[in-house]
Amino acid sequence: MVASVPSNGSASEGPLAGLRVALVFPIFLDVELASHQDNARFLGSIPPLSLGYVASVLKGAGADVLVLDCPTLNMPLSRAVEVSRAFAPDYVGFTLATVDWLSSLAWMQRFHADLGAPIVVGGIHMECYPKETLTHRCIELGLVGHADQGLVDMLVAHQEGTDLRQIPGAVFRDEDGNVVVSEAVDRPTAEGDMPWPARELMPYDKHFSIVSTESNFTAAMSNFGCPYRCEFCILRGDALRQRTALSIVDEMEYCYREFGIREIDFFDPVFTMRKDRVLAICDELERRKLKGLIWSIRARTDALDQTLLDRMWEAGCRRICYGIESGSNEVLRRVDKRMKSTDHIGEVIKATKKRGYEVLAFVMIGNPLEDRRTVGMTRRMLTSLPIDLVQIASLFPLPKTPIYEEIVRRTGVDYWQQHILDGSPVHPVVRLDTSLTDDEINQLVTETYMHFYFRPSFARFALSRAKQPAQIRRGLEAAVGISKTFVGGAFV
Ligand code: SF4
Repeated sequence: MVASVPSNGSASEGPLAGLRVALVFPIFLDVELASHQDNARFLGSIPPLSLGYVASVLKGAGADVLVLDCPTLNMPLSRAVEVSRAFAPDYVGFTLATVDWLSSLAWMQRFHADLGAPIVVGGIHMECYPKETLTHRCIELGLVGHADQGLVDMLVAHQEGTDLRQIPGAVFRDEDGNVVVSEAVDRPTAEGDMPWPARELMPYDKHFSIVSTESNFTAAMSNFGCPYRCEFCILRGDALRQRTALSIVDEMEYCYREFGIREIDFFDPVFTMRKDRVLAICDELERRKLKGLIWSIRARTDALDQTLLDRMWEAGCRRICYGIESGSNEVLRRVDKRMKSTDHIGEVIKATKKRGYEVLAFVMIGNPLEDRRTVGMTRRMLTSLPIDLVQIASLFPLPKTPIYEEIVRRTGVDYWQQHILDGSPVHPVVRLDTSLTDDEINQLVTETYMHFYFRPSFARFALSRAKQPAQIRRGLEAAVGISKTFVGGAFV
């Protein structure tokens, strides 16, 4: 038996009973702004967990909720508007990321024009540019912070016409049209739980990741936030909100039994932040005997040891994704990655592979101090270590990060702010302490992909793990797409 199911509230009771909310995850039109086009295109159909959490909070308060996971449903804007109109929502919600701003804005403007229901926004973007965002009149309300810390109160206050200033994190326009941002509350840091994402409202049987091997597949979060301070990362220094081992395993079992999930990818950046919690998760998973369930995690190489590798393997973990970022110690130090050394990264990756795991490495190109020599070091690291899969991003300096703040300080221009206010272009990307241009970096990303994936050892690995024709097809599509980008890029 699953111990508890905190996500399932009644749709007929609670402070939002009778309210109808459509939550929309758009198809992003401006793939230029994704960290690298190929990543965005070939990553897979990952469930929009943020919207899932929002849906769950609203359902728990009694609202009727529609979730439109448009990329997975292959649902264009016009169809999304049509489906939403049939649902007759009182509110339409979006979670925003700064890099996807123009696409999200286009969707919100169309929804506003065609439906007229007030638009409510949240997401990490609202922690960066809440005022600028609400200058767009198509948006009625915003929230800074997690949905379970104020969304229900904010909607109740908006419905009743009471003062939104009392709601922590509420963003709204006052009677004179000025944007007001109420002070947000601190995130809870004690071990606890949030409602689980409302997967029952999503096309959960259509989700997959380019590296997943089992169906049905889903993503999950075991922590929120990250206490590390990598200078390129928008999550850096975010208060860590940890879930309990029991709640995590309850959610895994619920996914297993209710949705036929057989593979779960934990997307929080450092699953192994606390060893005792990971060991408790493994013990509980073994006790419940969820036959055929595999899972994967993201971790830092300095945040796990042989005991954890052994116990997680025994409990069904089959892939570990490491953010190694660069093969150059100099670059790692410059971005404050706080890894021990590239040699230590290599030792941990070898131990991980030896235990039987698939190893996926995340790397970036374009950080401060990057040049062709350091990219060469990264390539050598990727091909000399037993790494099975790699995802490569070109650095896109994001708001709230020290790299971006230094760029703003040196240039005097907050270009993301301008982008939010009036759509000013953010290309070419302004970079910090590297002479590599945008085009060179994109070319290096593609060449590094080619260097890694077009090797006989990778072909053998890919064929050995593909269990279904669809997996082989997806792998080939990714390879062909990357090749086309490379060939196209080579002649411009
Ligand atoms: S890169 Fe990873 S470890 Fe570093 S701050 Fe971001 S989430 Fe944390």
